[in-house]
Amino acid sequence: MKAEIIAVGTEILLGEIVNTDAKFLSEELAALGISTYYQTVVGDNKERLLDAFRSGFERSDIIITSGGLGPTDDDITKETGAEYFGKELVLDENSYNRIESYFKGRKMAKTNIKQAYVPVGGKVLDNDNGTAPGIIIEENGKMLIMLPGPPNELVPMFNNSVKPYLEGREKQVIISRTLRLTGIGESNAAEAVRDIMAKGTNPTVAPYAKEDGVLLRITAKGEGKEQCLKMIEPVADEIYGRLGGFIYGEDDTTLAGAVVELLKEKGLSLATAESLTGGMLASAIVDIAGVSKVFKEGFVAYTNESKMKTLGVSSRTIQYYGAVSAETAAEMAKGAAVKAGADVGISTTGIAGGGAVANPTVDDTSYDKPVGRVYIGIYCKGKTFTKELNIKGSRQKVRSRTVSSLLDFLRVTLKGL
Ligand code: ATP
Ligand code: MG
Repeated sequence: MKAEIIAVGTEILLGEIVNTDAKFLSEELAALGISTYYQTVVGDNKERLLDAFRSGFERSDIIITSGGLGPTDDDITKETGAEYFGKELVLDENSYNRIESYFKGRKMAKTNIKQAYVPVGGKVLDNDNGTAPGIIIEENGKMLIMLPGPPNELVPMFNNSVKPYLEGREKQVIISRTLRLTGIGESNAAEAVRDIMAKGTNPTVAPYAKEDGVLLRITAKGEGKEQCLKMIEPVADEIYGRLGGFIYGEDDTTLAGAVVELLKEKGLSLATAESLTGGMLASAIVDIAGVSKVFKEGFVAYTNESKMKTLGVSSRTIQYYGAVSAETAAEMAKGAAVKAGADVGISTTGIAGGGAVANPTVDDTSYDKPVGRVYIGIYCKGKTFTKELNIKGSRQKVRSRTVSSLLDFLRVTLKGL
């Protein structure tokens, strides 16, 4: 089966929102073994949407739309879909009741009643997170699946209703396992698995470079998920054998998530001390749900004074080695752990660029250090570890790379405990 996706919304054409619905739907269709041949974006305009339906159904069996199911006059997807198939819209009792109960005593706007109208014969998909039901019209081998635009409505509706509806229609499905690596570049990772990549057509192995590391995606096509996973397993095992030390997790795992997991496993609490990253490190850690078990406190100590006052870095260290030095990073990490009463402290100090050093003082030797020079530190059980980084790129890149390098440094250090 061939599918295409039509995102409806002038907002997308104007670049005001990113078409994440299309990304999600394409990934999901691929996993179901359904090929997506076109992604289209159409504004809130009936003629142009009708046009898109006409040309879409000339070449594809399935069209999935997102957006334009809302209560206002510029929401026209359902009306246009019904018109394309020549269907009347009738009030759907069940949808009406659902919409009414969604408002739970608040006054329901008259315009919301519009959302309870569905094309005759259409399959109604309940919306658990909003008012607009989704609708499937299927006729003469053509299927139109209309879903609401907001991702928090579209995603659960797809998973709960559309997926089961489409599952099993295509014998062959495509399943991937993504191994996430850090501390190694894309070309070195690819080099290490070059023979596996060369030999594989099913499963295939493909490398992708990301901001904070490299992904190796192993993809298999087969009859059912189980069969695909079985085909993937030996390939994944082989890659673990070669690159296991660089692999911090799979699929949706983040580096911060992997570190938090390790801290939990080892029963260690954490504090952060940040200069150039200014809270990014703490933020990456707090992004992980359930982190309160391990994360105690985060300090942002930007000036020399703050590093001394807040974290107890000695003035001699700053004068002698500079604020940007391994010695300062070590004292910051230890200071954070001590002040917060945490088992582990981690720190960043460096020159992000895009301006002078944060606070060069007459005594500070940082002025002769290049942009991108960063020191990261770890204090753990009485020991300190530091690392020098030299990062090329913009201020933002230096800062975000510092965060991922430190998280990986911590991951590797914790593993070695
Ligand atoms: P509503 O009932 O909220 O009006 P709708 O189904 O009519 O829903 P739209 O009005 O088209 O959907 O879009 C509503 C919001 O959903 C947008 O402002 C945007 O935040 C989000 N959205 C819409 N389309 C997309 C898309 N393709 N990708 C990501 N988000 C989207
Ligand atoms: Mg709308």
